[in-house]
Amino acid sequence: MHFDTKVVRAGISPDPTTGAIVPPIYQSATFVLEEVGKDKGFDYTRSSNPTRFTLEANLAAIEGAKHAACFASGMSAVDAVMKLFSQGDHIVSSDDVYGGVSRLFNQFLVRQGLSFTYVDSSFPEKVEAAIQPNTKIIWIETPTNPLLKVSDVKALADLAHSRGLLLGVDSTFATPALLRPLELGADIVMHSTTKYISGHNQLIGGVVLTNSDELQARFRHFQKSIGAIPSPFDSWLTLLGVKTLSLRMERHSENAMAVATFLERHPKVAKVTYPGLESHPMHHVAKAQMSAFSGMISFELVGGIPAGKKLLNSVKLCALAESLGAVETMITHPATMTHVEVPREERLARGLTDGLVRLSVGIEYVGDILADLEQALDQVD
Ligand SMILES: *Cc1c(COP(=O)(O)O)cnc(C)c1O
Repeated sequence: MHFDTKVVRAGISPDPTTGAIVPPIYQSATFVLEEVGKDKGFDYTRSSNPTRFTLEANLAAIEGAKHAACFASGMSAVDAVMKLFSQGDHIVSSDDVYGGVSRLFNQFLVRQGLSFTYVDSSFPEKVEAAIQPNTKIIWIETPTNPLLKVSDVKALADLAHSRGLLLGVDSTFATPALLRPLELGADIVMHSTTKYISGHNQLIGGVVLTNSDELQARFRHFQKSIGAIPSPFDSWLTLLGVKTLSLRMERHSENAMAVATFLERHPKVAKVTYPGLESHPMHHVAKAQMSAFSGMISFELVGGIPAGKKLLNSVKLCALAESLGAVETMITHPATMTHVEVPREERLARGLTDGLVRLSVGIEYVGDILADLEQALDQVD
């Protein structure tokens, strides 16, 4: 089945009792046994729920994975991956990870005895140099949030396997419509389904995908033991969102390319970062492993922070909001919003300047998005 067919159909069959084309929401905590020791495959929603299982089957199919395990949020999905490890284990991580992920690593997991080394994973040699005898996994984001650094998944998978490590990829920005890391050798893929996968700013969710039966058994055990699972209703809403993933990612990518090109030519814009632009340092890697470049752009204005503030306060169509990957165009100031908890020196060392603006380009008519940015830039000194 082609990807575009899978997003609409995979894992979904008409409801056996009524023929409903949309799978029902099994909003039930528990399931009645037929007799002692005999159930219909479901016992208690924390460990098994038909609506969640349908979503998991659909997401596994579109990622090209054998297994999927859904979680209550992207954060709980990352946490589930990290629960594979024990006190004394070491993780090599991309340096430009989502703000919440670095908070989880630095404020919680280090207290439980894990240690982390952050490197620019665009350079496999830097990742290799950070590997220690107790390293267990290489954890990357590609493209990263918010600097849109791109890492070579195949090169890092080969490196990980040559050293007996796992490669885990937070693929939230790319989605399986544009990049399928398992096909390039990754062992684990994770998404915040809050973003492009559900796509309409309607819920918080996450998923972990793998081809390994052993890893999946552990993820299932975490769902059951910790309980950070999505509700049946959120699972159902995610399923509806996925149906248009392919169409949306096409439009997000097209619109973002037009917006990035417009910004790159604008005299008040100092720098634009978008993996689809030839000026992106890893454009060749992005082009080789992704089928399009998604909807995320970051840029910096010539006038620094004051200009950035003026721009953010002058947009009308673009929503000034945290989050990304939904149908609406959203604009964010990472230094004061998404990455406020990353200490300033660390932000600057990572290239996350005070004037950086992040844009999640939506699927509106591109002329309207460009006109809004143009009128807002006109007001910037
Ligand atoms: C949003 C996001 C997360 C966290 O997901 P939530 O659903 O908000 O918990 C993790 N990684 C990336 C890249 C994200 O964009």
